[in-house]
Amino acid sequence: MSDLVQPKSVDVTYETEEPVLYEADAGIAWVTMNRPSFNNSQNGQMTYALDDAFQRATHDDAVKCIVLAGAGKHFSAGHDIGTPGRDLHHEFDKRLMFAPHTNKPAAELLYTREQEQYLGMCRRWRDIPKPTIAMVQGACIAGGLMLAWVCDLIVASDDAFFQDPVNPLMGIPGVEYFAHAYELPPRVAKEFLLLGERMTAERAERFGMVNRVVPRDQLRETVNAMAAKLAGQDRLGNWLTKQAVNHVEELRGKRAAMDAVFHMHHFAHAQNDLVKGDSIAGVSGRSASAENKKAAG
Ligand code: ZN
Repeated sequence: MSDLVQPKSVDVTYETEEPVLYEADAGIAWVTMNRPSFNNSQNGQMTYALDDAFQRATHDDAVKCIVLAGAGKHFSAGHDIGTPGRDLHHEFDKRLMFAPHTNKPAAELLYTREQEQYLGMCRRWRDIPKPTIAMVQGACIAGGLMLAWVCDLIVASDDAFFQDPVNPLMGIPGVEYFAHAYELPPRVAKEFLLLGERMTAERAERFGMVNRVVPRDQLRETVNAMAAKLAGQDRLGNWLTKQAVNHVEELRGKRAAMDAVFHMHHFAHAQNDLVKGDSIAGVSGRSASAENKKAAG
């Protein structure tokens, strides 16, 4: 039987009390994911700490620009699907208008959790009224893509790569925040999703998914220079400008498309649960990374 059929409470061991670091200086807030020993895989603890950090930066008038970074070798390996800190069955105070998820049966549990922690949070962070920059090095996989994509600008080091392998691994049509076909031309988005292979930063830049690619040792100074420029500009102008482009994406149907695909995503979770007894088809962080290594040769 699936672990989602009956709600349960599971012991969680967090390796850190600080899954996100926050530093504000010269008008720039640096929000750094801080689970480097697990390649910054995103558990609930980190999600709510990110939300705290983004709220803090939003509410501080001295902050004019926000950078999202990942400590260590990689930006983010995606959602936590297998560390001791995986907290799928842990209840956090909901930030959006959703009921508790841990006491819900079957597919309702994950549907409720992901409405809040993945789709809802990402949309909320995309709408932060200040410019945001993702500073990406190393791996940016699946759930990691969602975090980079909600930022206004993406600067990547030349060793960065982007990948959404959930269709080949789990039979799920992409991660919960389905921006793939907005970030990439449709045929490239299909390739990205169907084959689930790594896309280099250089190739991502060609499609406009990444703004700039720089050598690893110039990543921070490049981001810092862009952030400093934004921090020196008019606050309202920056806000209106990002809203203007976000609005154009909405007119192109981004929100409606995401809502539709979110339900396909959950249909696939439920199918996995029914057929394989596990909503993510028995994939763990370890097995996913072994498959990835094979795919990368
Ligand atoms: Zn999901």
